[in-house]
Formats: sequence, C-alpha cells, structure tokens
Amino acid sequence: MKRLDIDNATFVRLYHEHKSAIVVAKLLGCTNVTVINRLREEGVPRMSASRVGRRPWNKMDMDEQAVIKYYKGARNLRKTAKHFTCSVPTIGNVLRKHGVPRDGKAIWTKKSRKSLSEAIKRTHAEGKMSGENHWNWRGGISDKAYPMGWCAALKKSIRQRDGYRCRVCDKSQQKNRQALCVHHIDYDKDNLDPKNLVSLCSTCHGQTAGNRRHWQRYFKTMLAVRRSG
Ligand SMILES: [Zn+2]
Repeated sequence: MKRLDIDNATFVRLYHEHKSAIVVAKLLGCTNVTVINRLREEGVPRMSASRVGRRPWNKMDMDEQAVIKYYKGARNLRKTAKHFTCSVPTIGNVLRKHGVPRDGKAIWTKKSRKSLSEAIKRTHAEGKMSGENHWNWRGGISDKAYPMGWCAALKKSIRQRDGYRCRVCDKSQQKNRQALCVHHIDYDKDNLDPKNLVSLCSTCHGQTAGNRRHWQRYFKTMLAVRRSG
C-alpha cells in the first residue's frame, strides 16, 4: 500500500491536539492503524482513555438513585439501560448494589439461602426425595442384581478398549481419579454385549442417570459414527 504523503510531525501535532487516534484518522482520511503506526515511529506514547480525561466504562458517573427510581417505574432492564445509555449489566450491578429485587430473579440473602437449604434438608429427611418418591424413580430396577459375567475383568476390557478415556468428554481415567464407570447404553444390566457398554467419567456417568432417551440416542449415534469412520 502507498504511504500517505503526510509527515509524522503532522500526525504527532494533531494527536496532541485531539488526544484521539480515531479523530486524527478521520481528519487525515486514513485508518486508525496508520495513525498508531506513525506515532510509534516517532516514539510518541498513546494516551489511555483515563489519562486524556475520558471516563472509563466502569467508572460511569451515574445517579444510582435515579436509576433505581426509573427501574421501579419501568420494571424493565433493557428500557432502563437505554434510558441511561449504558449496558444492561451496568443497570443490574446498580440494582444488586442497592439490593433492589429484579423481576424474575431472586436476591439471595443469607436468610433466604438458609431457609431454602433447610427446606431441602427437611424434604430429604422425610424421604420425599428417595425411593419411589423420587422424581426419577423407575420401579426399583437399581436393586436388580448384576448378572454373572459382570465382573472386574469385563469392565477392565471395556476401559481398555476405550483407551481409558471418557467416551463423552474425553477425560482420562487419571484425571477422573478413579476407575472409569462402565455404562450400559440401553440401561439393561443384563445386556453385557460390549457394544452396549461404554466407559464414562464420574461426571458424565452422573448425567446419564437422567434423560435416558437422550443418552440412548446419543450413544447409538456415537457408535454408528465410530463404526463408519
Ligand atoms: Zn466425561
């Protein structure tokens, strides 16, 4: 690209006058990068926004009470942000700082945390979350004994086949810090066909406890891809 026929001194003079590479670029009809390059050639340090007196985004001078008042009237974060020409998170921060409850969002206090925690503990103590009262109860199938052949050697062979890595997230057995779980894809503990078994890390295995239809489909697709590729 052809070098702009303006000497570096002009760039420097304008930069000191306007304190902004963007403004200089506009004045001279070139790009910001050109201005920055010319300043660098002359060893002129660039000034940060705060040094030239512009207020950084996180030090916005806001009338926080006005923000709260407006939000209480509008009950809309986006509208409030637009009104004060700032971002939605900025408004969120102001509201949080002053403990103003937001629509659809709980303000967690020490007290509300404790009362929820106690409610959960009560539910567990009363057995409402275990056995057939549990939302994911499937008729006591987990009590079913594992068949003969479901042994350490079989599980080891599956882990070995899978390279000692979780087949979902690729975590290694070493990172898992315990032997990988060997999961039954069809959730049938009698089905010991290696095609029905897959090694999973503890986290991913925990996930497979819920949403069984999703996981069955997931592993079937995964195995099909592995076989064809
Ligand atoms: Zn995993």
